[in-house]
Amino acid sequence: MALKNEYLNRVYAGLAQRNAHEPEFLQAVMEVFESLEPVVDARPEIEANAIMERIVEPERIINFRVSWVDDAGKVQVNRGWRIQFNSAIGPYKGGLRLHPSVNQSIIKFLGFEQIFKNSLTGLPMGGGKGGSDFDPKGKSDNEIMRFCQSFMTELAKHIGADTDVPAGDIGTGAREIGYMFGQYKRLRNEFTGVLTGKGLSYGGSLARTEATGYGACYFMNEMLKDMGASFEGKRVVISGSGNVATYANQKATQLGGKVVAMSDSNGYIVDENGIDFKVIKEIKEVKRARIKTYVDYVPGAKYVEGCRGIWSVPCDLALPCATQNELNGEEAATLIKNGCKAVAEGANMPCTPEAVAAFQAAGVAFGPAKAANAGGVATSGLEMSQNSQRLSWTFEEVDAKLHQIMINIYKACKDASERYNMAGNLVAGANIAGFEKVCDAMLWQGIAY
Ligand code: NDP
Repeated sequence: MALKNEYLNRVYAGLAQRNAHEPEFLQAVMEVFESLEPVVDARPEIEANAIMERIVEPERIINFRVSWVDDAGKVQVNRGWRIQFNSAIGPYKGGLRLHPSVNQSIIKFLGFEQIFKNSLTGLPMGGGKGGSDFDPKGKSDNEIMRFCQSFMTELAKHIGADTDVPAGDIGTGAREIGYMFGQYKRLRNEFTGVLTGKGLSYGGSLARTEATGYGACYFMNEMLKDMGASFEGKRVVISGSGNVATYANQKATQLGGKVVAMSDSNGYIVDENGIDFKVIKEIKEVKRARIKTYVDYVPGAKYVEGCRGIWSVPCDLALPCATQNELNGEEAATLIKNGCKAVAEGANMPCTPEAVAAFQAAGVAFGPAKAANAGGVATSGLEMSQNSQRLSWTFEEVDAKLHQIMINIYKACKDASERYNMAGNLVAGANIAGFEKVCDAMLWQGIAY
């Protein structure tokens, strides 16, 4: 796809040539560049200071070996990454993904998106991301612990409460954060807020677990309000059944919606009476089992093999909460045909560019990931604040702050889209609002950086 702005086109062409083997990263950059054309047209200082060339290059990429011993006594070797993308507005902040699909392109796309997402929260956090191609599935607790300890043994050299504060992501939940935090403390002999998503007994924040899913629903609620609607009585489809999906289910239900379908990477379940949050929590967080076991708890429900079929379940609202590029143009067309009126991305970049274009062309309200799922990192920011103060706020206090942050993010996206004559385009609005603050900070801080 060609960009109209000659400067952006040139920067993108150079980037595509240098990173030809990084398709996810290039996809994320193209989406941002398309939105920023009017901003770059209007502000010549962006080109004069090479802001775009600088913003697409990570400040630092740390790539390391993670060796660990499995339960059979065999040595295993994985690859680890931490990408410290941009620290213009605060310490690097972003999750750690543990999944066999992880490679440099995936971590760069996530780290790049994180810059703008963190900026949108209004909190002082730069952009970063990390992870490993380690597959936690089927591993024993001891194997997970040994992997996490080895991973942190290297990572500890590069992070710190005022430098870089990692968090969870796919495959990294409270258990993994706990093992990593323990190892960091052992190595550095200091108890600081170096990770977020911690357990409540050692500095975690109430409502952090729920934050991304709740935040996506709060964002969806703001979109619905502008349409003169609400969650009340709506059929909701949520892909995934991990951290984000589970708590999106809980909040969507609390707000009056009926969640009729959820999935994992093997298949999806349909429960016309509304998927029971407590059963999902039991299956995923206690039993660590597959979504198909839902039918053992709720006999009226059905399970269908193959996760992508979930988009054929008729719904009013869709919340893709599993992984990148999980919803393509054809699946978007099916959702539209079946009457879907609004989509908010709980996962990072779950909709392909063709899917986003289809939703926008059909007038389906569309909340992009960097705005709609920013509640997780925002609440991580609140965890950092509590750690710095050595205080713990109540669930209600944190949830109220999260709710207000999501309302502010929606407003910032909407205002930015209107300022640049793209009313209703929240993709552009999110990219512009997130970018402007980072760009201004970079301009203030000079070039040698
Ligand atoms: P989890 O590991 O808790 O859950 C991931 C879910 O997605 C699982 O149900 C998993 O199924 C499913 N999944 C993974 N890969 C695929 C695939 N290829 N096809 C279909 N389903 C798949 O991760 P999270 O809930 O934390 O993260 C989900 C998304 O949200 C990610 O994009 C993440 O980057 C994003 N996000 C997460 C935040 C957080 O606070 N946790 C914050 C902001 C964004 P299975 O068990 O079969 O693998």
